Amino acid sequence: MKAVRIVATRQPLVFEDLPDPTPGPDDAVVRVQATGICRSDWHAWMGDWTWIGLAPTLPIVPGHEFGGEVVAVGANVREFAVGDRVTVPFHNACGHCAYCRAGSPNLCANTGIYGFSWDGSFAEYVRVPHADFNLIRLPDTVDALTAAAMGCRYMTGYHGVMRGGVRPGHWVAVQGAGGVGLSAIQVAAAVGAQVVAVDIDDAKLDKAREEGAVAVVNARRANVPEAVREITGGGAHVGIDALGIRETILNSILSLRKGGRHVQIGLTTAAEGGMVAVPIDAVTAMELEIVGSLGNPHPAYDGLLSLVAAGRLRPRNLVEREVGLEDVNAVFAAMTEFQTRGFNVVTRF
Ligand SMILES: [Zn+2]
Ligand SMILES: [Zn+2]
Repeated sequence: MKAVRIVATRQPLVFEDLPDPTPGPDDAVVRVQATGICRSDWHAWMGDWTWIGLAPTLPIVPGHEFGGEVVAVGANVREFAVGDRVTVPFHNACGHCAYCRAGSPNLCANTGIYGFSWDGSFAEYVRVPHADFNLIRLPDTVDALTAAAMGCRYMTGYHGVMRGGVRPGHWVAVQGAGGVGLSAIQVAAAVGAQVVAVDIDDAKLDKAREEGAVAVVNARRANVPEAVREITGGGAHVGIDALGIRETILNSILSLRKGGRHVQIGLTTAAEGGMVAVPIDAVTAMELEIVGSLGNPHPAYDGLLSLVAAGRLRPRNLVEREVGLEDVNAVFAAMTEFQTRGFNVVTRF
């Protein structure tokens, strides 16, 4: 099969022919019809995230957000068959640990990630371990491109809004109007929240307005907590940091009203190395909550997919362009310069 691999950090990916994957007894193999190029793939290529154990062994095929068709299943797979149209959450789960049984397979004790733990979807075919538990059937009206647009950033934004306990009428301040941020903005607006989008790029803020933000703040030109408190009449009920740098984490927490909740979605960069000092006395005095949000648990896909199928959530709006497998290097280079405006999805293999 055609595939692209990371052979060394920060070196050009290599476009090559690899053997087709074969399924183990519990696995499936999916023909990839669309796969998003995510900033997490870029982080893997940059050599980030060693501090949370997310450094893949090289060489590896990246790619973890995809839609496609089952082409082979192992002997133990019961629920899926060749020809089924499917996607997966990027976090593969075992299906039998305490977290999986409790309905939180995004926290699985035996988790693995496509393109980090084994070869991912920047290829014609990808292997899905524990296929009965991890494959998600696509509704007829949800195509592979939409599935790829949902596979990581969109579903992550969706779960972040759920973790925030966002309710109609809430003020929600979203730091970062990239892929995850725009997804959270779209979902929060869809559930009736009033969204303030914060970024340093006016073009991204224009896109945030298109996706439902009622106000925007350019962090280059304004003091973010002051601006958010003024717009919201005292602070946001919920803050979502979709970026993960020190400045956005602090801006999110400091923009909350009393009793507010900060949701941390973005993982930090090499500059923070996973550690950021937070205003902990304000957390106490204002009874703030700080919660993390990781991916989207498998059981939450029913609600997400039915809203997408009904057209009430529109992940495809966030697709900037479709590209070929050979374009991954160019997209990574654009990500290094923060030049991407939405999802770049590989649809040509
Ligand atoms: Zn598990
Ligand atoms: Zn991702």
